[in-house]
Amino acid sequence: MLLVAWGVGVAGAAWGAASFSALRRERAALADVTRAAKRLVAGETHVVAPGAPGGPGELAFLVNELGNRVRTEHIRIHPDRVFEQAMLRETPNGLMVVDGRGIIRGVNPAGRNLLDWASEPVGTVASASVPLPDLAAVLREAADSREVRERSTRYGARDLLVRGLPLADGGGTLGVVLDITSVVAAERVRREFVANVSHELRTPVTAIVGYAESLEDENLTPQARALLAPLVRNALRLSRLCEDVLALSVLEARAADFPTENVDIVPLLDEVVDLLRDTAAARKIRLRVDAPGPTMARLNAEAFTASLQNLVDNALKYTPEGGDVQVRVSVEGKNVDVAVVDTGPGIAPEHHSRLFERFYRVDAGRSRDAGGTGLGLALVKHYCRAMGADVSMQSTPGTGSTFTLHLPAADLGEAR
Ligand code: ADP
Repeated sequence: MLLVAWGVGVAGAAWGAASFSALRRERAALADVTRAAKRLVAGETHVVAPGAPGGPGELAFLVNELGNRVRTEHIRIHPDRVFEQAMLRETPNGLMVVDGRGIIRGVNPAGRNLLDWASEPVGTVASASVPLPDLAAVLREAADSREVRERSTRYGARDLLVRGLPLADGGGTLGVVLDITSVVAAERVRREFVANVSHELRTPVTAIVGYAESLEDENLTPQARALLAPLVRNALRLSRLCEDVLALSVLEARAADFPTENVDIVPLLDEVVDLLRDTAAARKIRLRVDAPGPTMARLNAEAFTASLQNLVDNALKYTPEGGDVQVRVSVEGKNVDVAVVDTGPGIAPEHHSRLFERFYRVDAGRSRDAGGTGLGLALVKHYCRAMGADVSMQSTPGTGSTFTLHLPAADLGEAR
């Protein structure tokens, strides 16, 4: 009896220890499954490693299976949403949505990375929490104007292009942040290369022009003189090309470096016209200034004179002998217009939109014969941009062309 009782006692203790540890294992497994279920709800798949069949391990397997089926079903029912979410998650472009009340409704992972938000942005007021002032500005401007607004800016070590786009639905705004650091760096390398090449070419080309021109004074045979003429002409053309390319790259590099001031433009017009008077006389062209009297405009004198000189030079180049070139000033409200009007051949409408591009020429042969480089109007456009002015053209083929510099009138508040 005692033996039986002892046997039962030992068996009971052994069962108790075994069942207790099994219970602990099951509890731990259940806790794992609960955690896994929570991850499933958050949209993840394969959330538990399946264990041995028959116990909680099988449950884990079933939970995983369930997760896969839910996901497959979700993709089947909402394929577009799944792909859209993948695009939002994987794109390197920062994206954020602001609702009609200015509250941030969503920011994708790239948007979070590029802008280094100090705290969770979703649900906050965009104007207060967007860490980049230029982005906050384009979002506000796009919301107010209902038009796309864009600007490039620097944020830490990055160059960014920020854009605000009004959304058709619900009056919200989409903010886009593009990392353009490598594009800006490549652009700088290109600009410096072009500037260096033209700078290096300048000295030997100047020497060639000098020697070739001094040969003209020598006692040459007619054959030698006939060979020298194209040599001088082409050397001069090359020299002008170097100067224009250099000017253009310098202009791009220091675009923000053309401070404007209130200036009477009439002495500047006279200066340019005086400089080109001999050229006009040689081509038998009447060159005149028509200004109502002293006219104050806001400009950078260097950029303005260079632009005007290019326009008058072109007018003289392309207008046939006996024609007229007039520099006309007109003031309308807060705008001062300086127009260069010629009686030349005019320019057909199909060329108008491309005329200010580098090396764009209506008639390349004619431009070359006239000593043109194809860069004059591109320079004018850049000079205007650098001083906050604008340039436009009108032309009627067979009648003539008018190129107009649009300047802001003088800021009288400052002039006083
Ligand atoms: P280019 O050195 O060839 O003159 P520009 O950039 O100054 O280069 O001008 C581009 C082209 O525009 C010229 O090649 C010419 O075909 C045309 N153009 C410019 N100004 C005039 C003008 N006043 N009349 C007719 N054509 C012009």
